Amino acid sequence: MAIRIERVPVLSDNYVWLLHDGASGETVAIDPGEAAPVLAAADTLGWQIGAIWNTHWHPDHTAGNAAVKAATGASVTGPAAEAAKIPGGLDRGIGEGDALTLGAHRAVAMHVPGHTAGHLAFHFADDALLVTGDTLFAMGCGRLFEGTAAEMYANMARYRVLPPETQVLCGHEYTQANGRFALAVDPDNAALRARMAEVDRLRAAGEATVPTTIAAELATNPFLRAQSAVELRDLRERKDAFRG
Ligand SMILES: [Zn+2]
Repeated sequence: MAIRIERVPVLSDNYVWLLHDGASGETVAIDPGEAAPVLAAADTLGWQIGAIWNTHWHPDHTAGNAAVKAATGASVTGPAAEAAKIPGGLDRGIGEGDALTLGAHRAVAMHVPGHTAGHLAFHFADDALLVTGDTLFAMGCGRLFEGTAAEMYANMARYRVLPPETQVLCGHEYTQANGRFALAVDPDNAALRARMAEVDRLRAAGEATVPTTIAAELATNPFLRAQSAVELRDLRERKDAFRG
């Protein structure tokens, strides 16, 4: 049975992802930066949150951990390297290659540093599902707060070779701003122009633009398309200064 996915908007532009396995009834909440909307969404769906997974320590991804845990008894799993920075700490600290389960579905943690030093992605290979937190966004990538362009380039190289149909669940609704920058650096990309027209239509209607897919990012994301760490670094610096 396929994993069911619920996108819960919290704070100004964060997304919390609820993943639910119907066979076992298990539900995981990924990166609850705020508790109330997450608990309300799970309640509406009739899903009982049994686990919290954090991709990285930033408060907009972890500030709701304690309240979700208090309300549900959920266990908290996240990057061992960042446990001391996560409010309430972790019940289970993990790193590269460690396995996670949602019912019979299996995910593997990928260590993808650069945005934060211990940042994790969660890859459900059999389900073609990738949770990227603040590393890969629709048409963008995370800022380099605790790492290097070489590290982020290595992450992109790992993502690039995943099956194109892989769904990408990222941590923010940054798509429209990312796309404006992407168009500025890649103006002749027809796929990008078409995608931005659709993104503009969705945002004007107040709708979300994610999940995305590896295929869509391969066609339109300048950071995933970068040919070298130097190119990614230059793009990242230009993006940081970009006022679209
Ligand atoms: Zn972050």
